[in-house]
Amino acid sequence: MKDVLEFNPLGFQKSLLDWYDISHRALPWRAGPGNLSNPYYVWLSEIMLQQTTVPTVKSYFENFKEKWPTIHHLSQASLDEVLHAWQGLGYYARARNLHKCANHIVKIHQGIFPSTSSELINLPGIGPYTAAAIASIAFNEPATVVDGNVERVISRIFKIETPLPSSKAEIKHYAQKLTSQDRPGDYAQAMMDIGATICRPVNPLCMLCPISQFCEAYKAGCAEDFPRKIAKGAKPTRYGVVFWIINEKGQILIQKRPLKGLLAGLMEIPSSPWVPHDKAALIDVSQGPASLGWQFLEGEVRHTFTHFHLVLKVAWAKSQTSDGEWTNPDNFHSFAFPTVMKKVIHHALKYGPKALAL
Ligand code: SF4
Repeated sequence: MKDVLEFNPLGFQKSLLDWYDISHRALPWRAGPGNLSNPYYVWLSEIMLQQTTVPTVKSYFENFKEKWPTIHHLSQASLDEVLHAWQGLGYYARARNLHKCANHIVKIHQGIFPSTSSELINLPGIGPYTAAAIASIAFNEPATVVDGNVERVISRIFKIETPLPSSKAEIKHYAQKLTSQDRPGDYAQAMMDIGATICRPVNPLCMLCPISQFCEAYKAGCAEDFPRKIAKGAKPTRYGVVFWIINEKGQILIQKRPLKGLLAGLMEIPSSPWVPHDKAALIDVSQGPASLGWQFLEGEVRHTFTHFHLVLKVAWAKSQTSDGEWTNPDNFHSFAFPTVMKKVIHHALKYGPKALAL
C-alpha cells in the first residue's frame, strides 16, 4: 500500500470540508454542517438508501416520518403496516429488520439509540456501514464510513489497481487514514456528497472537484477506469406459473408468503416454484392450488431480482370453493404486494378482461 501521509490528510480534509460547508446537499434527514443529526432520521434514511436512490428515498422518508415521528411510534406499528408503507422500495428484508430493530431499541435500550458504532452494529439489520454512518453523523464518533460512493472516490484518489471486491480492505485502510477526527460526521457526509454529485461513476466532474489536487487517477487522466472491477457473470433466469383464481363473486385468491426467504411476509398471487433453466416450467400447472381448468393469458411477466431474472406465465381458472383469502381487484392497493406481483396483477387485468369474464 502507498504511504497515505505523502499527500497530507489534513489538507485533504480541509479542502473537502470547505467545499461541504458551501456545497452540501440539503436532505430531509440531515441537520446541516456543524450540527448532529437525529439518529432516528439517520438510521431510517440509511436503511432506505441501501439499494435505492436519494430522489426515491426522499418521499418514503417523509411519509415514514409523518406516520411514525419517533422510534417509539415505529415500534408500535405492525409489521404489515411497515411493509405496506415500504411498498415500491424493494428489498423487503430491510423493512422487516427496520421493524425488528425499532422494537429492539424500545425494549432493550428504552427507545434511545446506542451512541457508538460497536454497540450499533449489534442491532438487527445494522451492518458496519450503517453503524459507522449513525455513529459519525448523529454522535460525532470518528468512525469510517465506506459505501459504494466512498469506494469509488478512494479508489480514484489512490489509483488502486486491485479490482473490487478484493480491494475492499485496502480501500478501508485508506479511508480510515483520511477520516477527520475533528468533524467526523460532516466528513462522512462530505465524502458521500462528493461521490454522489462530483465523483460520479461516469463523467466525473474533475474540473469542479475540490480534492482533485490529491487525486492520482485524475492526474493520470484515467479517473473513469477506477474502481477496477471483475466482470460479472450473467444472471440466471428462473421460470414459473402464477395462478390467477377467481371465485363466484369475482374475487381473486391471494396469500401471504412465508416469513422467511425471498419477499418474506409479503402478499402474493399463488404461484408454482420458480425453477432455474427450465422453460417447461412456464406451462406446468400441476403445482397449482387445485386441479382446475387452467387457461393461459397471452404474454409473460418479467422481473429482475438481484441474483436472477424471472419469467412468469399467468394461468387463470374459476374456483369451486371459497377457502383461503380473497379480495376484489379494486382492493389490491390495500395489501403489501412486492413489485413483481404488481406486475402480475397489471398483466392479468390488462390481458384478462375477456378471458376473465364470469
Ligand atoms: S478529481 Fe475526479 S476522479 Fe478524482 S476524486 Fe475528484 S471527481 Fe473523483
